[in-house]
Amino acid sequence: MNDAATAAQGPVASPDYAALSVETLASRLGQLPAMRQRLGDDPADWQVREVGDGNLNLVFIVRGQGERGVIVKQALPYVRLVGDSWPLPLSRSFFEYHALTRQAVRSPDTVPEVFHFDEDQALIIMQFLTPHRILRQSLMDGTRHEGLGEMLGRFCAETLFRGSDLSLQAAERKRDVALFAGNHALCDITENLVFDEPYFDAPLNGEIPAVLQPLVDELRADADLKIAAQQLKARFANHAETMLHGDLHTGSIMADGDRAGVIDPEFVLYGPMGLDIGMLLANFAMAWFAQPGHASDGDDRVAYRRWIESTMTAVWQRFTERFSELWRTERAGMLYPARLFEDQGQVRASEVALSRRLGTVWRDTLGFAGVEIHRRTIGLARIVEYESIHDEALRARLQGQGLRYGRELVLERGAITDVDDMLARLRGAGEGA
Ligand code: ADP
Ligand code: MG
Repeated sequence: MNDAATAAQGPVASPDYAALSVETLASRLGQLPAMRQRLGDDPADWQVREVGDGNLNLVFIVRGQGERGVIVKQALPYVRLVGDSWPLPLSRSFFEYHALTRQAVRSPDTVPEVFHFDEDQALIIMQFLTPHRILRQSLMDGTRHEGLGEMLGRFCAETLFRGSDLSLQAAERKRDVALFAGNHALCDITENLVFDEPYFDAPLNGEIPAVLQPLVDELRADADLKIAAQQLKARFANHAETMLHGDLHTGSIMADGDRAGVIDPEFVLYGPMGLDIGMLLANFAMAWFAQPGHASDGDDRVAYRRWIESTMTAVWQRFTERFSELWRTERAGMLYPARLFEDQGQVRASEVALSRRLGTVWRDTLGFAGVEIHRRTIGLARIVEYESIHDEALRARLQGQGLRYGRELVLERGAITDVDDMLARLRGAGEGA
């Protein structure tokens, strides 16, 4: 196949592909320098453990004698959570690898380092972030992470700016648009699960608690909301602005103390900047709503909610600061060229263009945040912060607050002025029934 055809269709599955297991991993990967350098030369000594919490893929932790270990992630030809009734191309591993390596260059120290990639086996060997834990766990435990919002804001600014026509040369960006267009099967999941299925009684949605049903019926009957969700879907599908992570939620972030890393960019696509930031803020907002369900006698979580709010503020502030810095110092792509602005002595006009551009990203961010809240509350992929609340009445009340807030974000996305306004409305929603 020529390059253009490969780019359009994505790589084709190899006949040599075979899924790894705890038993076969050491013998199958035992000769790889990427493994031996880090784990020692005796594969018989390696300890292999499968990580249980992946939704789509096989993930193994492999440790050698006294070593830190590595992560081996392998795609399966189907969705792991559901089984072989839901096929999914192995090529997602190829796209995850290309996303991870680009993110590492564009935003240093934010993603695990890739040590080895095998396209035929759809497997990535990468840095083991340890003793990190998935951020959702911290958000349930009430653990704070110093500097987390700043790090995530920087990650968004650097990856979104440097993957766009503001930074890349046009030919390179167009090549990457074509490359990542091959990841259409994963885009199709987002297109269905985020923008359509929460808004009707789709078979995959799973059960809606009876107390929540009237509100869900109301949302599904809301024509303005459904039309807005489709406007956002059109933006997702038709606005190939930059390389996105594509699934930037708090289950794709691992943290330990003041260190954090972003994992799992297999949903990578060229799309609108607001998607990643919107999903991120939405997942913090849902964790905020869920807090009373995780309160204990000694901790009512009021102070922790304030930490979540400050983290959301830091994400957006750091994003805009870093994005603005890059706009002023690295704007080397074909969009908003300096020859039209700075070179004409019109620095002020360049700043106006920047602030309008950020305004567009903000409106998208709010809209995508709203639909993300809906889909993770009443769609297929729900969040553990809600699902782990035992008191059903309390859980439904908190979910209801979140759902109403999600609708407000979508419908008022043109009116919510800034992150303070977004948080004031969050607190308002949290006082609702
Ligand atoms: P999936 O795409 O199948 O959901 P993930 O990439 O999210 O898989 O990985 C599943 C789990 O494996 C994560 O929740 C995390 O616990 C663990 N994991 C994945 N990558 C790493 C890594 N680089 N370092 C440490 N743990 C990891
Ligand atoms: Mg994944």
